[in-house]
Amino acid sequence: MGQEHPSDKSIQKMQKFVASYCEKSGTTTHPDAEVTEAVVTGLAAHVDTLGRPLCPCRFYPDKRAETQYRTWICACDDMQIYKYCHCLLFVTPEGSPITEYLPPDHEGLQIYGLVKDPQPDKGRPLRDKAEEREIERRRRPC
Ligand code: SF4
Repeated sequence: MGQEHPSDKSIQKMQKFVASYCEKSGTTTHPDAEVTEAVVTGLAAHVDTLGRPLCPCRFYPDKRAETQYRTWICACDDMQIYKYCHCLLFVTPEGSPITEYLPPDHEGLQIYGLVKDPQPDKGRPLRDKAEEREIERRRRPC
């Protein structure tokens, strides 16, 4: 993911965040611990270099400029609206990203097919922002 050696402080901060967000959102970390470790490391590196946990699994023309938006600050809009984590950090116990709530043309549905939410009573605090997110996704497809 391009960032190395984040501080222990940022690693611990992100580990704590991940544990608490799993609980809050009704998701689990990936069964392969290396997946989680890689994403946490990337997030922590962004905390060190940008001051924000910018999603480490995407390309940004300008990372610092991207931090002006909340779109890809973990937990990102796709997670908070659709409960979809394309980094595979917050997934089902089998390790699949939840795709059930995605718009029909979203890449996640095309890649993974339909993955049902095992805990539909939890998560998606920004679900009412789906329309705004769709407009942004078309305008700013980063
Ligand atoms: Fe966090 Fe979203 Fe990236 Fe998943 S896809 S790690 S929820 S920012």
